[in-house]
Amino acid sequence: MGSESKIVLVTGGSGLVGQAIKTVIDEEKKSGSAEVGNEKWIFCGSKDGDLRNKKETEALFEKHKPTHVIHLAAMVGGLFHNMAHNLDFFRDNMAINDNVLYASYKHKVQKVVSCLSTCIFPDKITYPIDETMVHNGPPHSSNYGYSYAKRMIDVLNRGYAEQHGCRFTSVIPCNVFGPHDNFSLATSHVIPALIRRMDDAVTNGDKTFSVWGTGSPLRQFIYSLDIAKLFVWTLRHYDSVEPLILSVDEEDEVTISKAAEAIKKAHGFAGEIVYDTSKADGQYKKTASNKKLRSLYKEFTFTPFEQAIQDTVTWFKNNREHARL
Ligand code: NAP
Ligand code: GDP
Repeated sequence: MGSESKIVLVTGGSGLVGQAIKTVIDEEKKSGSAEVGNEKWIFCGSKDGDLRNKKETEALFEKHKPTHVIHLAAMVGGLFHNMAHNLDFFRDNMAINDNVLYASYKHKVQKVVSCLSTCIFPDKITYPIDETMVHNGPPHSSNYGYSYAKRMIDVLNRGYAEQHGCRFTSVIPCNVFGPHDNFSLATSHVIPALIRRMDDAVTNGDKTFSVWGTGSPLRQFIYSLDIAKLFVWTLRHYDSVEPLILSVDEEDEVTISKAAEAIKKAHGFAGEIVYDTSKADGQYKKTASNKKLRSLYKEFTFTPFEQAIQDTVTWFKNNREHARL
């Protein structure tokens, strides 16, 4: 270790959000910011240790001796991957979260920021959703495994705070997309799936492009570089055990069909978009309020959706060979 007083371990550091945090931290280092000068950042993926395994988790903490943790590592996937693997989502994520938080407690980590998701809220709920509603009813049936495992992070955080005085908290992002996303056809979320499939359609000269479901569900999408900045801010400035929603504004919610049109424009695809209504729509909407975030971090500005889509499509085209396909 150098002269830094904080050692920040990012689990899931090789993924979409982890790589975006790395980009933000590298930019801060380049600009010579005083805050980052006091921090050593370590980004870990599964090759550094399988966090479902208690011994490997302990070894990772013993090796790096973090003072702070951003805990992103998880089994993550889009609607169709969740529908087919609810049990795996539950078991893997329960194991990862229990191991990481227990190791953080044992190693006297000063602060942990873990990650929930707006898709874990109750299915039957009033809108907009806020931070107080995490446990107020069953989640949507399509992703109950992921949802219940994620909700247990909040239970663990409160337990560690009450019994041991730990400063463990969580954030609740809306749908994230950007460079380094998972573009695999079998497991990905909607935006990387459409970006990758439309790239294939352009190459093949297809006349039509199929979007799954009706196209009418609504989603709030946040660019990974924006959520990365908000994670870094949360680690440095947000100390309550209560979860914090990290989302774009309610007015910026878009239909799947509008997202598909933005991707079509960014790709310059000349064909027609059609809807395969034999495929599931999933949750109709999960509109979340970012009022709490807005009250705490007034000056934050989000990247406009179409610009972020364009940047992600450009990144995909330039990096397709190395991307997760
Ligand atoms: P991602 O791109 O799929 O990355 C997942 C990360 O977790 C990777 O670094 C992966 O390592 C690591 N990981 C998975 N299983 C592991 C294991 N058993 N042991 C150690 N590491 C493991 O996911 P993401 O989209 O960045 O998601 C980051 C966090 O945000 C997750 O907690 C997710 O639930 C949450 N979130 C995501 C979204 C979204 O739309 N993407 C929305 C809300 C919340 P490898 O690279 O080595 O596989
Ligand atoms: P969710 O936001 O957690 O439901 O997960 P996704 O990011 O997978 O988004 C699912 C929504 O996008 C559903 O309404 C799907 O019908 C729609 N969708 C349209 N085309 C695709 C596709 O190619 N892949 C995925 N994952 N979803 C798609």
